[in-house]
Amino acid sequence: MAIDSGDSQLDALVDDLIKKMPKSNLLPTKQAPNAPVNTHGTTYKPSTEDSKSAEGLEFTGYQSPIKGTFYNSGDFSFTATDKRHPNGHMGVDMRAAAGTPIYPLAEGVVTNVGTDPKGGNVVNIQHPNGVRTYYAHCSTVKVHKGDKVDKDTIIATVGDTGNAKGTVPHLHFQVWTNGQIQNPNKFFTMPRYTAYDKKKEKWWASDEAKQEAEAFNMQQHVTQGKPATSLAKRIDKLFTESQIYYDLAVRGF
Ligand SMILES: [Zn+2]
Repeated sequence: MAIDSGDSQLDALVDDLIKKMPKSNLLPTKQAPNAPVNTHGTTYKPSTEDSKSAEGLEFTGYQSPIKGTFYNSGDFSFTATDKRHPNGHMGVDMRAAAGTPIYPLAEGVVTNVGTDPKGGNVVNIQHPNGVRTYYAHCSTVKVHKGDKVDKDTIIATVGDTGNAKGTVPHLHFQVWTNGQIQNPNKFFTMPRYTAYDKKKEKWWASDEAKQEAEAFNMQQHVTQGKPATSLAKRIDKLFTESQIYYDLAVRGF
């Protein structure tokens, strides 16, 4: 160990801790702060690298990204023309209280998380069989680029970020197979469209979810990397602090 605190017991403790940490956890993960493609529409170029990322994953079928009760507040349509969707609606809107957990359509690998002017906080996931999904308007994001996810992984929570600000919280969800936009109804059953009354809407799933969303910062989430990295950072800080303490207390300056 480079550090010598003068306390051999402390040195041994820190040495042991470092040995026990997986090496990869010490490397900060660099990630693009923004989603590389605006996928809030039909534009999406499948990358070979992304497609390969899900190779070898066991595939156990598809599921709805919201497991509990949700409402349909926007059907998939190539032709729908309203003021919000002048060129059709390339996904489905799944309305649920803000903070409701979002799960992946199937097993997969997170190809990106970031912000998108339309989608707000978004997650992109590559699944086996050339299927890729996009989750938008999230209030919080729980995963990082490169994470393997299964059907029980909470990847994000429902919100109203991006151009959904001020609307009823919902997940805008899109699916492609080999670069072709798909109707998500092919993968799971959406209920019939229901008009909503904003006043009657329960906006937050819980106070905790609301507080968590208020504290969530996408930029910070991306640059902080995985929690293990934060632990490595805290240990680095401990080293620095103990060195300062040692200089002050032991060496007298
Ligand atoms: Zn939508």
